[in-house]
Amino acid sequence: MVIDEDAAQIIRLIFHKYVCDGYGSQRLCRYLSEIGIRKPDGKNIPTTSINRIIKNPMYMGVIHNGEARSEPIPELQIIDPKTFQRAQELMKGRATKHSDVPLNMSGHSLLVGNVFCGHCKHPLTLTTNGHKYVNRFGEIKREMRFRYTCTYNSRHPGECGGQSGYGLTKLDGIMDRIIRYQLGKVKAASADKIIAEGHEKAIELARARCNIASKQIDEKQRELADYEAETIKVIRGQSKLSIDLLNDLVAKAKEEIVRLTAALTDVQEELEKCLAGAEAQKQEYAQLETWADIYARCTFEARKMIVSQFVKSVYVYKDYTLEVEFNVAFEDFQNLVAECGGLRQTEPDIYVTPVTKENRPA
Ligand SMILES: [Zn+2]
Repeated sequence: MVIDEDAAQIIRLIFHKYVCDGYGSQRLCRYLSEIGIRKPDGKNIPTTSINRIIKNPMYMGVIHNGEARSEPIPELQIIDPKTFQRAQELMKGRATKHSDVPLNMSGHSLLVGNVFCGHCKHPLTLTTNGHKYVNRFGEIKREMRFRYTCTYNSRHPGECGGQSGYGLTKLDGIMDRIIRYQLGKVKAASADKIIAEGHEKAIELARARCNIASKQIDEKQRELADYEAETIKVIRGQSKLSIDLLNDLVAKAKEEIVRLTAALTDVQEELEKCLAGAEAQKQEYAQLETWADIYARCTFEARKMIVSQFVKSVYVYKDYTLEVEFNVAFEDFQNLVAECGGLRQTEPDIYVTPVTKENRPA
């Protein structure tokens, strides 16, 4: 076994920065990338690899195979054992204590599986970090902080243009406001009014067509009856009309009745469709109304379910700018609300909300 001197130089540099300059793996990853030390594919060396290097006893000349370890072999030593040991101690000290991390972290966040980094499109996952603070009795306390972290950014710092993470309370707070705002807007108009004004015209038109068609049928049937009465008069010698002409008129009237009856069936079907459509929309709308009500007073778990029903995806950009895509076509509802309530609807289904003083959660 021989030492590749170029690679050894990089390993020495990593240990030196880690032990002497107090660099963590994130900072080391950025640093190496800045000075041009990258993987053959041009990507930076991930933090996971840096951590593996720090932990690998091979660099102090120890060959290991499972649990079995050799004594340090000076010829293979890149890092002296003292530096290596110091690095191990630092790593232990840096590791987050996981004892007080709740097992089910997802229980704390409003968004799960539907939240992504707007910059690299990788999912944001929930992470915790310990935070020490001094309370009013002068005691040092530890507090867990939850963050939505860009998995790609934490593995390849600096390669994604976004933030490495977003505070859970802040992001959830903004999301909560967006949901309330959307549900509130839908709730603003009454369902009956929407149905009445949205479908009334179509229903009236279909009803009018039905009436016209039935009247035309009635007229044709009266006409037919007249022709038949006239035919009897011809037979009795009481009429001067030709029997051929009458037969012709009877046949034509019968044909017309068949045609008009078919037309009536068509418009009746159309009317039924209009009525069913109005009913379906009423039900869909009633569901939304209920959601708005439930959301206002429900538990966190229920809110999470409502959010997952409504929100298809959330893309988070720097400074908490969000792009939200909804499962429900709010646009349709909003158009109706706009038509009925005289409101101008300008909000698209996807919309971006920069954080302002007004929507910044307390
Ligand atoms: Zn990212």
